[in-house]
Amino acid sequence: MVRRPALSPGSHLTRHDARRLRIGSHPGVVIDDSPLLRALVAAIDGVRDAELACAAAAEATEQDPAVARELLDELIRRGAVVDAEPWLRVRAPRDEVVAAVLAGRDPGPMSGRARTGLSVHAAPTCHDLSDLIELGARIGGVSSRPHRTPRIHVAVSVGEPHRDTVEDLAAAGAPVLPVALAEGRCVIGPWIERGRTPCLRCADLARSTWDHSWAGHWPSLDRPDRPHGVGAEVAQLAAMLVVADVLAACDGRRPRTVGARLTTGPAPGSAAAAPVPFDPGCPCHVLTVLPPEATAVS
Ligand SMILES: [Zn+2]
Repeated sequence: MVRRPALSPGSHLTRHDARRLRIGSHPGVVIDDSPLLRALVAAIDGVRDAELACAAAAEATEQDPAVARELLDELIRRGAVVDAEPWLRVRAPRDEVVAAVLAGRDPGPMSGRARTGLSVHAAPTCHDLSDLIELGARIGGVSSRPHRTPRIHVAVSVGEPHRDTVEDLAAAGAPVLPVALAEGRCVIGPWIERGRTPCLRCADLARSTWDHSWAGHWPSLDRPDRPHGVGAEVAQLAAMLVVADVLAACDGRRPRTVGARLTTGPAPGSAAAAPVPFDPGCPCHVLTVLPPEATAVS
C-alpha cells in the first residue's frame, strides 16, 4: 500500500507527444495528458498522504476524488509512483536518500550522518582540498561545524604526515584519515581506527618490505611552502575518494582505505591502491587484543 505517494525516484513529468506526457525516461511511463494528471502529479510530493493528494487534485480540476484515486492507482501499478513513507524517517539530504534508493541501498543508515562531526585539519597550502572535502561531506549531510565534537578527522599535509600528530589524533578514539600531497600525487589512507585497523607505521613497515631504502617516515627538514604539484583535477578526485570514505563510515559501511592507501595523480584520473596489513612489528597491533579500556594507555 502506498501511503505517501511520490514520483519514482529522480523522475520528472515531461511531454511525450501532442497528447501524452511521460514520467521518467529510464524507460519511463507514457500516459494521456489531462488536467487531472497534471494536478495529481503536482499534489503528490512524498509528504501528503494518498487521500489528501487525490482530494487536492480533484478539487483543483472539479472532479470526483474517486476518479483521482483511480488515476493514482494506475500510476502506482505502472511504477511511475512509489511510496515515500520509508524515506521520510531518514535524516539526510533528500537527494542523498533518493540516490541510495536508486542504487538499491537502504537509506536508513544515512541518518547517522547528521550526528557525525567532520574535522579537516589542513596545512596552509592545502586549504583548497580541505574546502572540497568539507563541501562534499556537507552535501552528503555530514556536519563540519567547528563546535561539534569531531567523530572523524581528516588530516591533509604537504608530504608524509607527521606520525606522532596522526597518532595523537587517533588516540582520542575517533577515526583519522591522513591525506598526503607531494610530487603531484595525493596519497589517501590508511583509515585509522586505533587498535582496529592498520596504521601509518604499519604502512611504513609494509613499504620497507619492497622499498628497502625506506626507513620509515621522518619529520620534514624542508621549508613547508614549496609547491606540492597537485593540480585541480587530481585534487577533485582525491576529495571524492575522501568524501566517499567519510560517508561510508557514517553509514556503517567499510571505507575503502581500511587496510589500504589510495594514490591518485600525477596523471589526472589515475588511481591505484596499495594494501596496508597489520604489521606484527607495529605497537598498534597489540591494541587489537587488549580490552577497550586498555587502549587509552600508551
Ligand atoms: Zn600499526
